Amino acid sequence: MDWNYQQPVKIIFGNGKLSALKEVIAELGETDGILICSRSFRKSGLADKVMAEADGLLTAVYSDVSPNPEVSEVDACAELMREQGSKFVVALGGGSVMDLAKAAATIATVDDSIRLYHGTGKALPETFLPLIAVPTTSGTGSEVTSVSVLSDYETGKKAPILSPNFFPAYAVVDPELTYTCPPTVTACSGIDVLCQAIEGYWSVNHQPICDALAIHAAKLVFEHLPVAYANPTDATAREKMAEASVIAGLAFALPKTTSSHAMSYPLTNLYGIPHGEACGLTIDYFAKVNALLETDGRVTAFAKAIGFTDADEMANAITALKKQIGLRTDLTDLDLSDAQIDELVQLSHHPNLENNPVKITDDILYDLFGTLTKKD
Ligand code: NAD
Repeated sequence: MDWNYQQPVKIIFGNGKLSALKEVIAELGETDGILICSRSFRKSGLADKVMAEADGLLTAVYSDVSPNPEVSEVDACAELMREQGSKFVVALGGGSVMDLAKAAATIATVDDSIRLYHGTGKALPETFLPLIAVPTTSGTGSEVTSVSVLSDYETGKKAPILSPNFFPAYAVVDPELTYTCPPTVTACSGIDVLCQAIEGYWSVNHQPICDALAIHAAKLVFEHLPVAYANPTDATAREKMAEASVIAGLAFALPKTTSSHAMSYPLTNLYGIPHGEACGLTIDYFAKVNALLETDGRVTAFAKAIGFTDADEMANAITALKKQIGLRTDLTDLDLSDAQIDELVQLSHHPNLENNPVKITDDILYDLFGTLTKKD
């Protein structure tokens, strides 16, 4: 088996590491940076704290970032960066902030709109500003990936853009930043970590380094996510979930995700289901189907490697975990019509579905939606 491994992001991990930001910026050797964060961090005072930590090296702030960031927000941020002459970017937030920042850091260097590159396959310009990613959820792992997932409200499209430009120069992972995540955000982003670990391992592009990372991350989620959900300031649970998040990011960054992520995009776009919850909705079903139809035993091997007797037992444990942390396990409340299910099946044929270890047919997708919409 041939494989490659590359990971260009310098990772700085530990409680209180936000205070190392000034040193990290000094190492980067740039001045006149922009802080990109969510509106809530401006209100909470965290943005001011970060500006103060940076001691004059950050000279602008952009905070119009929606969950599932939109292409027009990327363009607006890039415009501000051009006006301000920004030379580097600090992204303080969850996947939404980091993904917007990645795209804006490239678009700011040219006089273009990100729309030209979103879902079009057009190669991005080669120029980009360096990025320091500071995740505040555990999480998407966006701090170590070359992916930016953006939405276009006009076309209704949510799609990832891949580019080596998008690898941050640094990831500063401070678990204490996640203490303020409300339980719902902890649950949604935490189940995303599990999906990324599982799907990174399942992917047809799997390779041994990412396999080992996926096993490590998934074990941590089963042990620590319920505690982080129930007790947001439990230091051990928050630290271990932050570790799981960055390591799951590394686990899927090269193999990419599979069926559950492919299906999550229309569920988020059309029905507003948060990203992680949408991924988690189908992961237990796919564990069972993939194990039933697989030919190389890897789906079962993963379940055993993280302590279950088989994939069915792992799938049942995921269902139980979702219930424990208040995530949906079905779509019955949406009262989906046949036409809506047809649309979801059609839109689930996202490129990531091709990474799944088993071919996912329309029959399987209809069976899945039948299960999710069946009322007792
Ligand atoms: P998010 O960034 O959308 O944040 C969810 C909510 O939590 C927001 O309202 C945000 O303001 C709030 N929040 C974030 N951190 C907080 C904190 N510490 N305290 C209080 N509130 C906080 O959620 P996410 O799950 O981190 O990111 C989801 C996005 O990332 C989706 O668009 C998804 O498609 C994308 N994604 C990207 C990658 C990648 O590799 N680039 C991978 C997976 C998902």
